[in-house]
Amino acid sequence: MSGNIAKASQTPVGGMPQMVVGEALSSWRKYFSDESRKEGDADCIALPQNAEEVAMAVREAARNGWNVTISGARTGITAAAVPDGGLVLSLERMNHVLGLRKNERGDFFVHCESGVRLGDLQKSLQTGMFADSKDWSEESRALLTELRDAKLFYPPDPTETSASIGGTVACNASGAHTFGYGPTRPYVEAMHVVLADGSSLDLHRGEWMADDDGAFALQMPDGTILNGKMPSYPWPKTKSAAGYFSGGRDVMDLFIGSEGTLGVVTDVELRLVPRPERSIMVMCFWADEATALKFVHALRAERKQLGLEAVEYFGADALDMLRERRRLLGAASGVPACLEDDMRHGVFLDVGCSAADERDVLQRLQKVIKSLGGDAGKCWCATENDTRERLRLFRHALPETVNGLIAQIRRQYPTVTKLGTDMAVPDERLEEYVAMFHEELGAAGLRYVTFGHVGDNHLHVNILPRNPDEYAKGKALYFDLAKRVVAMGGSPAAEHGIGKLKTNFLELLIGKQGVEEMRAIKALFDPHGMLGPKTLMG
Ligand SMILES: Cc1cc2nc3c(=O)[nH]c(=O)nc-3n(C[C@H](O)[C@H](O)[C@H](O)COP(=O)(O)OP(=O)(O)OC[C@H]3O[C@@H](n4cnc5c(N)ncnc54)[C@H](O)[C@@H]3O)c2cc1C
Repeated sequence: MSGNIAKASQTPVGGMPQMVVGEALSSWRKYFSDESRKEGDADCIALPQNAEEVAMAVREAARNGWNVTISGARTGITAAAVPDGGLVLSLERMNHVLGLRKNERGDFFVHCESGVRLGDLQKSLQTGMFADSKDWSEESRALLTELRDAKLFYPPDPTETSASIGGTVACNASGAHTFGYGPTRPYVEAMHVVLADGSSLDLHRGEWMADDDGAFALQMPDGTILNGKMPSYPWPKTKSAAGYFSGGRDVMDLFIGSEGTLGVVTDVELRLVPRPERSIMVMCFWADEATALKFVHALRAERKQLGLEAVEYFGADALDMLRERRRLLGAASGVPACLEDDMRHGVFLDVGCSAADERDVLQRLQKVIKSLGGDAGKCWCATENDTRERLRLFRHALPETVNGLIAQIRRQYPTVTKLGTDMAVPDERLEEYVAMFHEELGAAGLRYVTFGHVGDNHLHVNILPRNPDEYAKGKALYFDLAKRVVAMGGSPAAEHGIGKLKTNFLELLIGKQGVEEMRAIKALFDPHGMLGPKTLMG
């Protein structure tokens, strides 16, 4: 090992960021794993506090022949942040909100470092209180009062709010509200990126665009030009978090969703939007699946008029599981006693509207329900804080139940995990997609539970293996299901990314040629293949 890194030390040396090496690493092992529970190893952990220190750390990695795994909050579930030797570059100390900006059109932007936690940013925007505002420019501080009055928010909402902003950008994170607001990508206005050689790039939306053939020429700060080509594979007409973005011409979009393989995003500027005045949650019940899915299509046709932010599904298997939870745990289950046996399929809506429109929106919704023979009187509707909180708890009771079941099985078979699918299809394939799970998983005799973002035709069907044989069977079947989803024009990795665990899904989606195009982009920004070892392209 060369360079000026102190062996077995946690002390900053020679202007370098804090670097942890040698025996000291044994008490830093949480940096070697993420929520996938896969464990890796590394030679060094760097904890930079600014972009200059990031650049120094990657140069130091190059000198030592280390690859670099960028680490956000490690909430990812595809092992993308799990190191494979080399350097772990943790952005957790770069956790400051740096200021606000308002453009000539009146749009607001928040500028923050990558290590800021999503939940912290959301809370600050809601309360209008930023711990770092004392260090802001005068212009930013002046905008704070306006921001408070404007009641703005940042919509991307992966369920896990402890994720870092950099991680959500690197994964183009999405969630339930993606139905109404889209994923992370459209909210990223600018970013600062440190490349593998330690050089820096400032990217702004619309600034560096490829031509009609996809060719781009990106000028680096030292005047050199990077000539590259946007990928040409078709981007699925669905949510997708699989590979470098090919659905547009903005070079910055290559970095969004690149899973730490092209550069280190040190700070970003994010667009904020007005928070709706009224927030309503509605749970509608249907006797059969076919009508529940028709309801989803009908809702989509009126998504704007109904102010729909999220449309989520609870299959009959999910509601049965929740009824059983109620039977076992009573009121503490979070499941209300009024979840009657004939409430077979649930469609859950988040609605955002103005106070003036609230009545009209609810009447319109009743009309849609009636037009399909439903009973609006049986819906649960939450318009106030306390009832919304109860419905939120109800929603969360399902993943909790699933995790509890798996924990029980793992006590006997520690190698078994749940297999949560993460695939989306275009609108017109929804029925075929849902039927596919029932046919294939039913025929295999596997236990599963159906729920998720049905508005985006994106269900997290959770296969719940009862033993290692079923686990192996479920895993093999997942790949076959992914093939069918790709044939439907969908994405086999809609929101959790490819990481290290689904690299075989990438070629399935974009073919060998597509993977080669991705490799060419990777070689342009990271010629020695240092960043994100074994992630995305394996
Ligand atoms: C309970 C649970 C629910 C979840 N629900 C959702 C969901 O609904 N939707 C969703 O999209 N995801 C979900 N996730 C997955 C995860 O939260 C997201 O992928 C999140 O965006 C990861 O952020 P992170 O900071 O934890 O990134 P990490 O896990 O640390 O890293 C993820 C990837 O991003 C790269 N990276 C991190 N920071 C940077 C940076 N600054 N610059 C460049 N690359 C970087 C890493 O190298 C790695 O490749 C869920 C996870 C859990 C545990």
